[in-house]
Amino acid sequence: MSIHVVFLGTAGSVPTLQRSLPAVLVQRGNEQFMFDCGEGVQRQMLRAKTGFHKKMKIFISHMHGDHVLGLPGLLQTMALMDRQRKLEVYGPKGISDFLLCVKETLQFGLTFPVEIREINGAGVVCDEEEYTVSAVQSNHVVPSLAYALVEKPRPGKFHPKKAHALGVPKGELWSELQRGGEVTLSDGRIVRAEEVLGSPRKGRKIVYTGDTRPFDAFAEFAAGADLVIHDATLDDSLAEKAAVDGHSTPSQAAEQALKAGAERLVLTHISARYPDAQVLLEQARKNFGNVVLAEDFLELELPLPED
Ligand SMILES: [Zn+2]
Ligand SMILES: [Zn+2]
Repeated sequence: MSIHVVFLGTAGSVPTLQRSLPAVLVQRGNEQFMFDCGEGVQRQMLRAKTGFHKKMKIFISHMHGDHVLGLPGLLQTMALMDRQRKLEVYGPKGISDFLLCVKETLQFGLTFPVEIREINGAGVVCDEEEYTVSAVQSNHVVPSLAYALVEKPRPGKFHPKKAHALGVPKGELWSELQRGGEVTLSDGRIVRAEEVLGSPRKGRKIVYTGDTRPFDAFAEFAAGADLVIHDATLDDSLAEKAAVDGHSTPSQAAEQALKAGAERLVLTHISARYPDAQVLLEQARKNFGNVVLAEDFLELELPLPED
């Protein structure tokens, strides 16, 4: 199962002609994860052909307008399109009041249930069969969260020769072993999955920082990530301003990705002062080779590792 990442909005604070406000959509199988929800996100979704009816969880990093004002419009568009499936929204304190207040004052009815979960503190915020989503307090000018989508390890590769050698007949018993279970053979012997499977295969990990200065807990939180999507609002020459505004520079983002041992880095939340943001990419590249500058509609693929 491939993981597909689409950058729907990559601007910081205000939209520009090239960049819409922050939103990243991760598509994993039939399920979507949206990180932040900037204004006009539904039009970006139309252009990216993401659909509006899929299973979806939305994760809001913090309660600044550029990250959250897309939610009311998105919910209303989904209702007008007669969405039926439940939508889950996770975010910091305030997300619940915000949505309830908008819903009441604008008096729009929804055709689908919305489950809102406010996150207090760090840890796993969502634990499903195949993955978890965790949050950690980041370091912005208001309470803010970074998120990690982490796939659980998959059972190791099945070795048919070993199963044959142990006398396990092909069929249902093989399937059970492939799922990680144990089986009892007709002669009473028990064969366990470990005897016929390779070592468990690591899942993929995607980390989204939201708006943040570099912070200490990041290296552990993002350890070994396949993809880190990091705030890089201002270039290195404006490091002082970035610190005051609660943002990061490209070199800082690169350093954080390096400390975490991440595979790939994407710089986003790009300030409107960079119609050409190549300078950000160049600054990050000095510390970290595998880096990309986010653009609206940039798409990345994270294939399933085959070991
Ligand atoms: Zn922002
Ligand atoms: Zn902010």
